[in-house]
Amino acid sequence: MITLAEAQALDAADPFASWRDRFVLPEGTIYLDGNSLGPPLRSAAAALAEVVTGEWGDALVAGWNRHDWIGLPERLGARIARLIGAAPGEVIVCDSVSVNLFKLIGAVLQARPDRRTILTEAGNFPTDLYIAQGAARLEGCQVRTVAADQIVAAIDDDTALVLLTHVHYKSGDLLDMAAITRAAHARGALVLWDLSHSTGAVPVDLGVCDADLAVGCGYKYLNGGPGAPAFLYVAQRLHAELHSPLSGWMGHAAPFAFVDDYAPAHDIRRFLCGTPPVLAMAALDHALGTFDGIEPAALYAKGGRLADVCIALMEARLVGHGFTLLSPRDAAARGSHVSYAHSHAWPISQALIARGVVGDFRAPDALRFGFAPLYTGYAQVWQAVDILAKIMASGEWQQPQFSSRAKVT
Ligand SMILES: *Cc1c(COP(=O)(O)O)cnc(C)c1O
Repeated sequence: MITLAEAQALDAADPFASWRDRFVLPEGTIYLDGNSLGPPLRSAAAALAEVVTGEWGDALVAGWNRHDWIGLPERLGARIARLIGAAPGEVIVCDSVSVNLFKLIGAVLQARPDRRTILTEAGNFPTDLYIAQGAARLEGCQVRTVAADQIVAAIDDDTALVLLTHVHYKSGDLLDMAAITRAAHARGALVLWDLSHSTGAVPVDLGVCDADLAVGCGYKYLNGGPGAPAFLYVAQRLHAELHSPLSGWMGHAAPFAFVDDYAPAHDIRRFLCGTPPVLAMAALDHALGTFDGIEPAALYAKGGRLADVCIALMEARLVGHGFTLLSPRDAAARGSHVSYAHSHAWPISQALIARGVVGDFRAPDALRFGFAPLYTGYAQVWQAVDILAKIMASGEWQQPQFSSRAKVT
């Protein structure tokens, strides 16, 4: 079993060890939830204040041109493109993941009228399923859900779109993007990848995988702030063929011509809808600076090792306490988080938070620990498992204050 001293030695040899100081994280908190909401950079407040007073307060409406606010969706898209193996003109930052899912699903269903099925994973992230259901209702299509390992076999001549989350939000299972994309293409279907739990933690190469479509989140590993804008990717070869069903003016070929009839932009901008939220974009832009010069593979390697340490310590210290690993044991088969099923996951998660260990509860019975590599240390993982072992041994989690449920869990 790994000792605290050994975990500290891993921290001492960690090239990312000093990065933690760049983030605002409460003293005494072990934050294992960066895959739900990343923390702010220390420099974020000043960067935002500069946009408010130096840009907005100074230029007012002229800021759209003078500070190229209007170009933020494309500029930020180009920064994210590097992290996911896309070309700069294939990614744009806009809206939420949910809205981007709707735009891309709707675009595919309209472009493939001879195919009427959206195929997805049972137990996929709720918004992915709900948006697919809503888009299917509008288009007279059906949503078919199967287990992840049945996806490839279930693709048939009626499949317009395969909708999958690259790293499963609960189990952390990492799907084989290249193989699934190849199988879908062989049967004439397109694939839409949700990269919410991948971007900024797990290497993705959309270009090498010949991926069609993707969406991803700005507020998880990218640290863009609560509700940060999301992004979408459309392979260059599909730009002309796909049309956003949310044909807003920012996706028009000439938004400021103010003509009555919609004509889509010729490039990735056709997937924009309305005016970009400049302050939220500025916060995400600032956060993306963190990733300049960092290779996703290096982040992934550390995230995997942190999770390995967690799994090994859980096995050594929490046997007989009712935890079942929901995630792959093999680091190569998972993203940067691990989950455990426990019949009392909710009060245990609350007792952990009361002791400064912030993980996630995911209904109905999962405890999820995210290992954001930029600000999580090996000794912290050791301490988190140590605290959990104490909470379980003492029965502290059974105290009544830990059983009431909040609105956001
Ligand atoms: C976090 C997450 C989302 C978030 O969608 P929003 O529209 O930002 O609320 C979507 N999909 C997956 C897989 C996620 O993990």
